[in-house]
Amino acid sequence: MTGAVPTDIRLPADLLPRDGRFGSGPSKIRPEAVAALSSLGATLLGTSHRQAPVRRLVGRLRRGLSELLALPEGYRVVLGNGGSTMFWDVATFGLIEHRSQHVTFGEFSAKFAAAVASAPHLERPDVIAVAPGTTSHCTAAQGVDLYALTHNETSTGVVMGLRRPEGTDAGALVAVDATSAAGGVRFDPNQVDVYYFAPQKGFASDGGLWVAALSPAALERVARIKSSGRWMPASLDLSIAVEESARDQTYNTPALVTLVLMAEQVDWMLAGGGLEWAAGRCDRSAAILYGWAESSAYATPFVAKPDDRSPVVGTIDLDGSVDALTVSGVLRANGIVDTESYRKLGRNQVRIGMFPAVEPADVEALTACIDFVVCALS
Ligand SMILES: *Cc1c(COP(=O)(O)O)cnc(C)c1O
Repeated sequence: MTGAVPTDIRLPADLLPRDGRFGSGPSKIRPEAVAALSSLGATLLGTSHRQAPVRRLVGRLRRGLSELLALPEGYRVVLGNGGSTMFWDVATFGLIEHRSQHVTFGEFSAKFAAAVASAPHLERPDVIAVAPGTTSHCTAAQGVDLYALTHNETSTGVVMGLRRPEGTDAGALVAVDATSAAGGVRFDPNQVDVYYFAPQKGFASDGGLWVAALSPAALERVARIKSSGRWMPASLDLSIAVEESARDQTYNTPALVTLVLMAEQVDWMLAGGGLEWAAGRCDRSAAILYGWAESSAYATPFVAKPDDRSPVVGTIDLDGSVDALTVSGVLRANGIVDTESYRKLGRNQVRIGMFPAVEPADVEALTACIDFVVCALS
C-alpha cells in the first residue's frame, strides 16, 4: 500500500469511457432505467404494494425473469426482502432438510457454508474448499440433500459451470447463488432447482431484494419442511414467500424503486434478444479485458484457467512495479469508479464489473485509461 494518491493526474477527455461505473455490485444503472423511474414518480411510487399497479409491476418482473432465464414448466419466480445474504438464511430454514454440500472458492460461497454450519437444526455441512482463483464441482455424497453452488464468485472473478452431480440421493436439490451471474451468464435451468440472485449486479438496480427461481422439486421441499413443523421466523419462511409471490406480492413492503429499475433492465434484455444477447455483451467486454491483460507488460488475469475466467467480473493482477490501489484511486479521481479489488482477497489487483449494462466500448476505453495512469505513475 502506498500513501497519497496523486489526484493531479488528469485523463484526457477523449480517452474516458462514456460511463465510468465499473463496480461489481452495486453496478452501473442505465440512465434510461432512471428516466423510466422518474416518469413513474407521481403515479406508481408512493402507492400501495397490495394494489393492482404494483402487483402488475411484480407480475411483469416475474414473467420477464421466467422468459429471460428460459425456466422450464413448473418453475416459479419467488421474491422477498433482504438480498442474497438473507436468502442464505431463508435456505437454511426452508430448503436444507438435514445436510448440504458446498463448493467454496471465495468469500461469498464460504459465507453460505458458514451460515449453514452455525444452524443448530442442521448437520455440519460437507464443504469442498478450493483456492481463490480456481473452482471445483460438487460430488454426490450420501445424506446430502442440497448441493450449493455459486455461478459466479464475485470476490475472485471465477465462473462455474452448472451441472447436477450424478448419483445423489433421490430428491437432492441443486441450489445456485447466481447473485452476480444471473442475466449475464448462460446456463441450463434443467440442471438447477434453486437459482437465486439480487437486483444490484447484472440486473442494474438497487439492493435489498432476493429473487429465486424454484423448480417443482424445490417447491415440494419447501412445503415438506414447512409441514414438518420446523420453527422459522415468518420473514425467512420460504413457504410464505412462495404464496405471496403467486399473488405478485411480497410478505412485507418492498422497495418499489428497486422493482421498477429491475423490471426495466429485464425488459431491456428481453428486447435486445434475451439471455443470449446479454451474455454476448459480457463476452465481448471480457474478451477485451482479458485480451488487454494478456498482452500487457504489467497486467495478468488473476484466474489462470481461461475457462474459469468470469465474463461478468474480471480480476486483473498488476505486477510489483504498479500499486493497484493507487491506480484505482487515480481512476476514481477521474470519475472511473469501483475498480478496487475485493478487499479481503488481498491482492495487487483491479476488479472490473462487466455486467450487461456496461458497454464493451467502455471496457476498451477503461483499459486505455489504466495504461495512461500506469504510464503517468512510472
Ligand atoms: C453480492 C453477492 C452476494 C450478497 O448479495 P446481497 O444482496 O448484498 O446480500 C452474495 N453472493 C454473491 C455471489 C454476490 O456476488
